[in-house]
Amino acid sequence: MEIVRTVFQNAESRDGSGVGPKLVIVLDMGREMGMNTADIPGLAHKMEMALPGIFPDEGSPYLHTCGGQSTGIEVHSFRDEIKQGTDIPHLLEHVLLHLLSRRTNHCSAYCGQRATDLDRGITTHYYLVVDCPSRIEGIVAADLAYNLVTSWIDNSALGIDPAAYLDGIRATLEPMIGFMPNNAHL
Ligand SMILES: [Zn+2]
Repeated sequence: MEIVRTVFQNAESRDGSGVGPKLVIVLDMGREMGMNTADIPGLAHKMEMALPGIFPDEGSPYLHTCGGQSTGIEVHSFRDEIKQGTDIPHLLEHVLLHLLSRRTNHCSAYCGQRATDLDRGITTHYYLVVDCPSRIEGIVAADLAYNLVTSWIDNSALGIDPAAYLDGIRATLEPMIGFMPNNAHL
């Protein structure tokens, strides 16, 4: 799985809350294409260890559920989805919701493939669209979520080298906002 690109744009929300700033992450699933959360041993436990509160109680302001009106599927918890097995972009989506909703208190997201890609024979691309008012927070959250999810898939411990981490974020941001000197504060 790779992040092909990240784009910021204004778009309609799926939950009917109107047009707002979105982070769009284009993923190429590569060899993780078709992989399922049920294939990752102990996933729910790994998630709780890395991100306490990832499965909020009913009534929590941070609750992020699956299904709902626009999908025609009854509202249910993401923990249920994991147990039954869902795809990896959906896992990434909920990690991002967890990270980004901490500050905004409201965050919705969706992911899927595009018919135009499939028609052109591009079968491994997924698009993840998440509410995101801040570009820098979006980039940092996307990078962290990607690293967490790949560590759960590979069953490896996530170690973050702060210098390499910031270099990665800088490399993503530079094409969007122009050159930043080395001592620029992100
Ligand atoms: Zn969901």
